[in-house]
Amino acid sequence: MSQQRWWTTPSVRKWAWELWRYYAWRPSYHLTLTTAEATAYVDMVNKQVVCNPEYPYPPLDLQASCRYLPKSVRDFQLEYLESLIAHEAGHTHHTGTLPAGLLGQLVNIIEDERVERLMCLDFPKLRRLFVMAADVDAAHAISHSGRGGDLIRGCLLHRFTWHHPTWRFVPDGADAHHWPEVRRILEAAWLAPTYDEVIEAAKQILALLGLPEVAPKREDLTVFLEGDGLRLKAKGGKNAASGDQADAGKSPTKDKPESSEAENAGGGQGEAAKEQGEQTGPAHVDEADGDEEDEGNGGRGSGRGMGAAPERPTIEEAETPAAELMRLETEG
Ligand SMILES: [Zn+2]
Repeated sequence: MSQQRWWTTPSVRKWAWELWRYYAWRPSYHLTLTTAEATAYVDMVNKQVVCNPEYPYPPLDLQASCRYLPKSVRDFQLEYLESLIAHEAGHTHHTGTLPAGLLGQLVNIIEDERVERLMCLDFPKLRRLFVMAADVDAAHAISHSGRGGDLIRGCLLHRFTWHHPTWRFVPDGADAHHWPEVRRILEAAWLAPTYDEVIEAAKQILALLGLPEVAPKREDLTVFLEGDGLRLKAKGGKNAASGDQADAGKSPTKDKPESSEAENAGGGQGEAAKEQGEQTGPAHVDEADGDEEDEGNGGRGSGRGMGAAPERPTIEEAETPAAELMRLETEG
């Protein structure tokens, strides 16, 4: 019998699914936990959300500068996973079609901060989680490539560090003289009331830097952005354009990836849920199961944020026979 990862247990899968319901209120989505994904993505066309439950702990030399960092790696992974689920849920509420190429990456960078700020309005307790996640992301970015770089990287690093007590992006590229203006556009876009204004801001920044809107994706940014499965579309929208698939197939983890379907895990999804929770198999939530009224309520103020978030599970190290039965197939 192969060793079972902690996040394939029913309690974790049930918790992850309840988080998705709590933050997204979209029961027709299919939630997958998998270490094959570097971070996470949401595919609003195919109603898929995919999250990595084993995001790496920050490097030792920068841990002391990471605020709210849990001492235990397992606690960290649980909290980081919750931040990912809430973040992806936020995209389904606030984000429209993502352009291709570098423009799409820059839109993604800007929109990630805007979405998290909007989610914090509905769920104030997320602020602490998002600060923790941003500090950890900043630590990985700084550890990998330092605090400098060109201004596109600056847009990413500034998103992670603008609220940090000491970490700052230090522009040291040939485009450094544009930083005050790029930063002004960037910070204004974080507060933009609409997604269209985010796209406009990204176009402005590219124009300022003399970069074409059709420039290809940059490999150095991909690890800090949503994966290639990311497909965002306008609410009620048609088919979404997606980013290009040029760098599909990257393998972010050394371990053999495993995955777990999170929905229907471990029983009911709360008293108000309409789904049948008795299934023990990896079934999709029935699309016809009353999700239309939920899905149509995607905007803010639809009652989300009432009550407390689902409690984090206590991880049992030992495998139980019931858990073994619940185990779902591994994706290749
Ligand atoms: Zn995002």
